[in-house]
Amino acid sequence: MNTSTQQLVKIPCLDLKGQHALIKKEVFELFEQVYDQTAFSGGPFVESFEKQFSEYTKVSYTVGVSNGTTALHLAMLALGIGPGDEVILPANTFIATVWGVSHVGATPVFVDCDAHTWEIDAAAIEAKITPKTKAIAGVHLYGQPFDIDAVMSICKKYNIYLLEDAAQAQGARYKGTTVGGFGEMACFSFYPGKNLGACGEAGGITTNNEQYAAHLRSLRNHGSVVRYYHDEIGYNYRMGGLEGASLQVKMRYLEQWNNRRRSIAKEYLSKITNPNVKMQHQPSWADSVFHLFVITVENRDAFIKHLNALEIYPALHYPVPCHLQKAYSYLGHKVGDFPNSEYLAAHCVSLPMYAELTDEMVQRVIDAVNAYQI
Ligand SMILES: *Cc1c(COP(=O)(O)O)cnc(C)c1O
Repeated sequence: MNTSTQQLVKIPCLDLKGQHALIKKEVFELFEQVYDQTAFSGGPFVESFEKQFSEYTKVSYTVGVSNGTTALHLAMLALGIGPGDEVILPANTFIATVWGVSHVGATPVFVDCDAHTWEIDAAAIEAKITPKTKAIAGVHLYGQPFDIDAVMSICKKYNIYLLEDAAQAQGARYKGTTVGGFGEMACFSFYPGKNLGACGEAGGITTNNEQYAAHLRSLRNHGSVVRYYHDEIGYNYRMGGLEGASLQVKMRYLEQWNNRRRSIAKEYLSKITNPNVKMQHQPSWADSVFHLFVITVENRDAFIKHLNALEIYPALHYPVPCHLQKAYSYLGHKVGDFPNSEYLAAHCVSLPMYAELTDEMVQRVIDAVNAYQI
């Protein structure tokens, strides 16, 4: 048969169906227990997951919350950050990192990313520090840890907090240590599309500080420790029981899924040889979990058309850097302020990346990328 006339299977950037078919029985068994115990809001299934996640991440405490954005909001509150304070963060992140700062009334202060790792450029941070700077929110972008030691030394020098946005990096390691315990706190998202995603919306905050953990537990639950006694203005940011149960099941698979992503990334990194394509530099100390596999390419529209014709459907993470979003126009930024972030936004393409990609699919992506000519 002539292969060119064969029907090609579509390869999307992400497909959650395979993963959920695999674990359906285990998840439904636990869902039934949640249902029978009517443990829908917080409760034992969330607590068991919190324990599991703390062990996996090698931290003392995990506080499960309603999503990654509320995790960031509560972390900022627990650090005492508010109006008049500044928080430094990369211009190239998912917008929710910035929401955390805005939701407490503080001011986000952007810095550019490194041209090669695409992670926060530690060398650009010091120029942005003022007496109002309270924290640096570093992001482990696309699953790859940022240079934590470099950022940490600035935090120590100026006596400011380090917060990790680890929403994309469950299980990633920096110099051999799992991310999530480096700063004061780390914020995770368990959005369904993340490496560890709930069957629903969920998030969590990890910390080694008992006081932070206790404060976060109160804040997520209406500012209350003893029921109907409210010690401070609180929030309803609890994690649901069904979400907790689904995360418990997925924890059994996370390491295996992350390792499959790592091996797919290894194929992409070693076999994509097209000189028009640049990939995220992987420093030797970074053990990424490849939440996304992002490349940059000149003439992106034509590249995507080329892939689409071969039934490959990449995505863009993210087409507009935070400093140029309309929501942040009040900060007065303009094109040219953060050239590396802007270049990335204009040229990035996320190749298919999920554990259920077959070797054949991976090879098809590699061949398609290599066949692209400007
Ligand atoms: C997904 C994500 C968030 C927000 O998490 P949600 O659960 O979607 O609210 C925050 N930061 C980064 C870097 C993310 O990728």
